[in-house]
Amino acid sequence: MTDAFDHAARLLADAPRILVFTGAGISTESGIPDFRGPDGLWTKVDPDDFTIQRYRANREVRVARWKMHQQGALWGARSSVRPNRAHEAVVELWRGGRMSGCVTQNIDGLHQAAGLPDDQVAELHGNIRKVHCLGCGARWETEEVLRWVDAGEEDPSCPHCGGLVKTTTVMFGEYLPLDQVQRAERFAAEADAVLVVGSTLSVYPAAQIPLDVVRRGGPMVIVNLGPTDGDRLAAARIEGKAGDVLPRLVDAILSSS
Ligand code: NAD
Repeated sequence: MTDAFDHAARLLADAPRILVFTGAGISTESGIPDFRGPDGLWTKVDPDDFTIQRYRANREVRVARWKMHQQGALWGARSSVRPNRAHEAVVELWRGGRMSGCVTQNIDGLHQAAGLPDDQVAELHGNIRKVHCLGCGARWETEEVLRWVDAGEEDPSCPHCGGLVKTTTVMFGEYLPLDQVQRAERFAAEADAVLVVGSTLSVYPAAQIPLDVVRRGGPMVIVNLGPTDGDRLAAARIEGKAGDVLPRLVDAILSSS
């Protein structure tokens, strides 16, 4: 084991409550590309189709999007993506009573699929496995809405108010969900340290959450492949794959208590 690993493990072992902050990098080993790499999402789809204005205005965009969900694209309920060893290690940290909460930028729902309860996860950018009505706010599992699509509704609408329905994933032009932001702030306020996994810490306001812990004097440990915008503020930085590093790191934290 490296010096960086030992240093990080010691810092986190000394912290009673750890905030886990995750980005696209925790899910690449589950087969979901990050955004900025050579195989990233923006090399395959047009980012302009992911604005709320386009979604509201253009039936064709909505029909195409539901068809993608129906066919198991976009890493949702009908896809074959599964949590990996890093998601499982986060669950172990929670089971060990050492996590203040998990804040994620990911929309894939894999933290819960690995076993974290919904109320332990703040999903700052929403969840592709959940749908809401843009009119009245009614909510469904995406799978339920996909059954309406299967039955022939190409562009499903809300059965209560007739409003447009959409997965809860935050599109360009939308606000972050207030309840999730408040939950994330509470997790950060209760944390003595923060563990960042697989994020460039370059997307705001999400990246503000780990920095809240740093501002209160808590150490930040970063596990990432490649540099991040938070490296200068990190107390320790481990260069490596989340699926290799996290199980060992969580073992070291839990076995030292
Ligand atoms: P990012 O793409 O900016 O950064 C991901 C970082 O993780 C990169 O530095 C990359 O080198 C690193 N990485 C890749 N594989 C790794 C691994 N196995 N172990 C450790 N590090 C690894 O991602 P971000 O910071 O999350 O921000 C991008 C935005 O994209 C976010 O807003 C997020 O909502 C969204 N996004 C979500 C998903 C998802 O839900 N899985 C996927 C792609 C993008």
